[in-house]
Amino acid sequence: MSDCLFCRIATREIPAELVLETPRVMAFRDTNPQAPTHVLVIPVEHVANAAELADTDPAYAGELLAAAAEVARREGLGSGYRLVANTGADAGQTVEHLHWHVLGGRPLTWPPG
Ligand code: 5GP
Ligand code: ZN
Repeated sequence: MSDCLFCRIATREIPAELVLETPRVMAFRDTNPQAPTHVLVIPVEHVANAAELADTDPAYAGELLAAAAEVARREGLGSGYRLVANTGADAGQTVEHLHWHVLGGRPLTWPPG
């Protein structure tokens, strides 16, 4: 989807600081980090949100989860991290291409608000 920001990052049309890349998954640093480590893990293929992926290709969701765990390892987040996939307007999803936030590097408060 040429008008989708994260599709444009996936095709390298828009630059991003990559942390991990496989043929189907990309991970790159968020430009407005909310923690010392704030990485976004996306499917290379366009999928709007986690619910859509669960309906269409749950195995792909597993690949994303494994990639997020690998990002956490590479970033040295052994003392803990948070995975967040904002899904829909009430959750504050602003980019309609599924992304897992990997947040860590400091104690994280709960509930998030
Ligand atoms: P959401 O609010 O949809 O859960 O998260 C979208 C995230 O994308 C935000 O944390 C925001 O900072 C990040 N973001 C927005 N535009 C860009 C961009 O052009 N590059 C990168 N790397 N992150 C972005
Ligand atoms: Zn997209």
